[in-house]
Amino acid sequence: MNMANTFPISFEFFPTKTAEGAAKHVQVRQALYARKPEFCSVTYGAGGSTQAGTFSMVRDIQAEGVQAASHFSCIGATSDKVRSELQELKDMGVRRIVALRGDLPSGYGLGGEFHYASDLVAFIRKEFGDWFHIEVAAYPETHPQAKSPETDLKAFATKIQAGASAGITQYFYNADAYFRFCEGIQALGVSTPVVPGIMPILNSSQLMRFSDATGAEIPRWIRLRLQAYGDDVTSIRAFGMDVVTRLCEQLRDQGAPGLHFYTMNQSAATLELCDRLGL
Ligand code: FAD
Repeated sequence: MNMANTFPISFEFFPTKTAEGAAKHVQVRQALYARKPEFCSVTYGAGGSTQAGTFSMVRDIQAEGVQAASHFSCIGATSDKVRSELQELKDMGVRRIVALRGDLPSGYGLGGEFHYASDLVAFIRKEFGDWFHIEVAAYPETHPQAKSPETDLKAFATKIQAGASAGITQYFYNADAYFRFCEGIQALGVSTPVVPGIMPILNSSQLMRFSDATGAEIPRWIRLRLQAYGDDVTSIRAFGMDVVTRLCEQLRDQGAPGLHFYTMNQSAATLELCDRLGL
């Protein structure tokens, strides 16, 4: 079945750090645009990247005729800085923001003018009305710093009540966790769409590292299989492709409103997933 143009997909990138990387990334984006994403998003401040790098890629994506979403994290920022950066995005014609708290620098505590992503969402709505479509982060396996799964569900609901339009999840490999999260927020009266974030499995040690940092669980059966493949990259990719294809099928078949792909700035794995899913 060809679902192109009917099942919404989006792609996530991170800012490139060199001119050579930027030039290569143009090819990656062009290959992915052929799948008609609803939007492409660019991370902000993650992995030591700069705000200028984010805005530069966002500008390029807009100029290429695709809707760009700028991730935007507020921790440690003043309201003046947030206002002027958001104005810059508005002046660039950007209509979409992924609004985040961001990761706390160690020893930071909860200082600053913005404590939670919900503060940023409320600020955006107060200052910019409905100009921006606002996505916020969702954690089907619970954010690592949450006091409990229940408080994390409430934190998500608070972001929606503050004016967010939709959620995008942290990646996961357990579809039940996602559907339970959706049921949990519905029980709190939230019916906003929550789009699963999909991480292709390309490299076993990188995935383990990310997952330890983000609290995204790699189920034991996947972890053991990946460990058993050792350095056999071909087998890791083939296995990973099967696992993630099945996950996406399950999510789509059981009602997920779209899929957001963490491309890791590469096109091949995401394109293969799209092929397998008929997207
Ligand atoms: P929040 O929603 O503010 O939640 C943070 C923690 O506080 C949670 O544990 C929550 O349960 C708790 N909490 C919230 N409100 C309250 C309250 N009122 N009282 C008590 N506790 C509360 N990071 C980047 O640096 N750059 C990016 O571009 C980026 N993009 C991301 C995209 C997606 C789709 C996702 C899922 C994550 C992304 N991150 C990014 C990571 C994110 O910044 C971190 O996970 C960060 O630690 C939390 O950000 P948040 O917006 O989810 O925070």
